[in-house]
Amino acid sequence: MTTAMRPLMAGNWKMNGTRDSLTEIKAIADGVKNPLSEKIETLLCPPATLLYVATALCDDSPLAIGAQDCHQGVSGAHTGDISAAMIADCFGTYVIVGHSERRRDHGDTNELVRAKAAAANAAGLTAIICVGETDEERKAGETLDVLRRQIFASVPEGATGETTVIAYEPVWAIGTGKTPTRPDIEAAHAFMRLELFERFGAEGKNIRLLYGGSANPRNASEIIGIADVNGLLVGGASLKAADFLAIYGAYEQLHA
Ligand code: PEP
Repeated sequence: MTTAMRPLMAGNWKMNGTRDSLTEIKAIADGVKNPLSEKIETLLCPPATLLYVATALCDDSPLAIGAQDCHQGVSGAHTGDISAAMIADCFGTYVIVGHSERRRDHGDTNELVRAKAAAANAAGLTAIICVGETDEERKAGETLDVLRRQIFASVPEGATGETTVIAYEPVWAIGTGKTPTRPDIEAAHAFMRLELFERFGAEGKNIRLLYGGSANPRNASEIIGIADVNGLLVGGASLKAADFLAIYGAYEQLHA
């Protein structure tokens, strides 16, 4: 396994978290300070308002801090947006782009997601590009077509294991308590791996593929054991340090 393929366990706090929540971030930062962190990379993406303080809290911890979105431009008249350089300036190292909630709430298209990922990379950040089918698309048997389209259009040319992570997040599984079956996750990840290999050659094997959608301490062990699942993107269950660390602990069993 190359360094780039060290599994990544990432938490996405979405629009949750105020200064009170810094105690949870500190508890997560302290909880991952152990030898397992050499094998498993951990990342938390709090709201932008907490980024700078969060990175300071993680000064002596392997926990990385990232943001949940960035603008595709470098700077300028874009009220309410933040640039990738601003995230890097706060010592963030990752940014999520193309989350289905951004695609739904803000109309982020594949092309925009690709531009955001490229902007992130230009600022030295790793982009976590989210893809995944809606319930309607799943029921119509279109899951793999959707993944092909989204990967083709959202992932910038020249993507590498250092610049890019892909998160497979079935829209119908996010925040619902529902998850795809093991064979469905396996099929989606095998398909994405092949797509990346065909497009980027050997480097396509270094791009980590995360699963996201109602992952929790109870189902984490099974999901992380699936072939080509190179980590998790966790929403609700990342808000509490105890849950985040319980999922992190599942890797301990996997690597025991
Ligand atoms: C997410 O939104 O990225 C996510 C995976 O959410 P949840 O774990 O709450 O389903």
